Amino acid sequence: MNIKYNIEQIKESMPKDVTLVAVSKTKPIELLEEAYSAGIRDFAENKVQELMEKFELFHKDVRWHFIGHLQTNKVKYIVDKAFMIHSLDSIKLLKELEKQCNKQQLQVNTLIQINIGKEESKYGFYEEDLDEIFIEVEKCNCVKIKGIMVIIPKGDEESNRYYFKRTKNIYEKIKEQKYQNVTMEILSMGMTHDYKTALEEGANLVRIGEGIFGKRI
Ligand SMILES: *Cc1c(COP(=O)(O)O)cnc(C)c1O
Repeated sequence: MNIKYNIEQIKESMPKDVTLVAVSKTKPIELLEEAYSAGIRDFAENKVQELMEKFELFHKDVRWHFIGHLQTNKVKYIVDKAFMIHSLDSIKLLKELEKQCNKQQLQVNTLIQINIGKEESKYGFYEEDLDEIFIEVEKCNCVKIKGIMVIIPKGDEESNRYYFKRTKNIYEKIKEQKYQNVTMEILSMGMTHDYKTALEEGANLVRIGEGIFGKRI
């Protein structure tokens, strides 16, 4: 697995203003080091414990993205470590984030996770339930919503494009609303097998794991 080569290939295929986040979950620090040497500064993890361990061990100029389901009892451990939490998926989680960032005197940047395919197996808001989160975030002191994250249902390219388009539409609609504490700056969509389609449909941040580090076992 030539990590440096993989990163160069991916970077060549995307516009300069797109953020490439390297999804390093399950991978050892030595492999993250190779990605760091190739210029990557954005890394993503989906488990709190693993993010905490890597945070301690690894370079301090790294931006850590949290992309997994976040249990409320673990919020206090990562509000000071995550540069961005991509997986804001409930009102309960929003309230806990607000509580902990007030306590720790921090601003916490989040993305609303959308369950665009209404899949039982996935977390995230349905489009029609988004109003309730805007009502709550407008009351917040230190939680900011910076955009949207989506994980689309498995499917072919046409299906992927359909879900990406719908997500981009939601993103644009929210942008027009001008809610307090909400700005639409980041559209986090696309992974190893579908990121090119995601970019064509307006993603400005892609989360790539296997395409950089090789298969996870
Ligand atoms: C694991 C994961 C990715 C990366 O998936 P790959 O197929 O390895 O690129 C992206 N986003 C989320 C939320 C993930 O859990």
